[in-house]
Amino acid sequence: MHLYLHIPFCHQACHYCDFHFSTRLAGKSDLVNALIQEIALQKDYLGTRELSTVYFGGGTPSTLSPSELSDIFEAIHLHFDIQKGAEITLEANPEDLTPEYLKVLKELGVNRLSIGIQSFHAANLTFMNRNHDVLQARKSIHDAQAMGISNISIDLIYGIPSNTLEMLEKDLATAVSTGVQHISAYSLTIEPKTVFGHQLKKGLMQETPEENMSACFEFTHQYLENNGFTAYETSNFAKAGYESKHNSSYWKQESYLGIGPAAHSFNQTTRQWNIANNATYVKQITQGNLPAEVELLSPENQINEYIMTQLRTHWGIDLNYLRERFQAIQATFPEDEIASWISNGYAVISGDRLKLVGQGKLIADGLSAEIFVLEDSK
Ligand code: SF4
Repeated sequence: MHLYLHIPFCHQACHYCDFHFSTRLAGKSDLVNALIQEIALQKDYLGTRELSTVYFGGGTPSTLSPSELSDIFEAIHLHFDIQKGAEITLEANPEDLTPEYLKVLKELGVNRLSIGIQSFHAANLTFMNRNHDVLQARKSIHDAQAMGISNISIDLIYGIPSNTLEMLEKDLATAVSTGVQHISAYSLTIEPKTVFGHQLKKGLMQETPEENMSACFEFTHQYLENNGFTAYETSNFAKAGYESKHNSSYWKQESYLGIGPAAHSFNQTTRQWNIANNATYVKQITQGNLPAEVELLSPENQINEYIMTQLRTHWGIDLNYLRERFQAIQATFPEDEIASWISNGYAVISGDRLKLVGQGKLIADGLSAEIFVLEDSK
């Protein structure tokens, strides 16, 4: 089972980001106390107290002080058993990863770091309003390695409007040369409620044309696969044995408990999500209430989630399992759609599994929607 903790604070707002976070760090200590209370409140959600992964995401978890982190770990250990060899990941930004901080992380048991690098080009970092520079980016990776953290992931963003494929190649080459074990590479998407969203609306910036984005996607996949990384999910690349166990659990539809504002939880039959408001979250939790909405997952929802998540991975869809699920609700199995994906070169069947290949990976979400089961398709 898996535990996620959402730390909703950042030093400054990146121009592309629509995650839930606040830059008012003064509220951090109250929120940490609420997180600790929520851990106790939700300890039975998963039906087991054994954890095989713990993931601190956000926001920027590295805004937590050593003592705040230590208090959260104490609460986790009090209510759960972290299995031997469990993957314990913390998302961090380069500017926070001083050698002293890294030492604390190591001592607390963090064995995987996910560092928000985004680019090794100074102009890109300024454009995106990142809070670090290129030197800090490189140094944070180096210092983490020197501290003995041997499972490091970095985030990269491609498809920045002014960038060329040569610039992307340089970013990827630098990333590979650092010796990290995992790279998450995302296309720049412009969300409405962000600085970029407003700029786009006012005509102050342009989106990267779709064909350029496709070229970046293909280039990234090719480059990283040529350099020892496997694309085990549309945006995630790992050296052998370094696939993220925590994120893979989402794609494999395993149960997880999410703690903190905006965190989601899933226990096979329900999905629930906490309110995305720090002040309300703290107030409610302090009063012993869980400010969460709960959705009972219908069989159709469950099938569609399976399709959407599995199709993005290199494990693909288990066709026998999918056939059984369609049969159980007497829905028509999408033989024709799947046959057309194969004839168009978007997918292959390997053993019992349906996997996307080539251009199919780029349009994974659109293809998933083609075979979603709808109420009226039964
Ligand atoms: S990208 Fe990360 S650091 Fe930037 S605002 Fe979003 S959560 Fe914070």
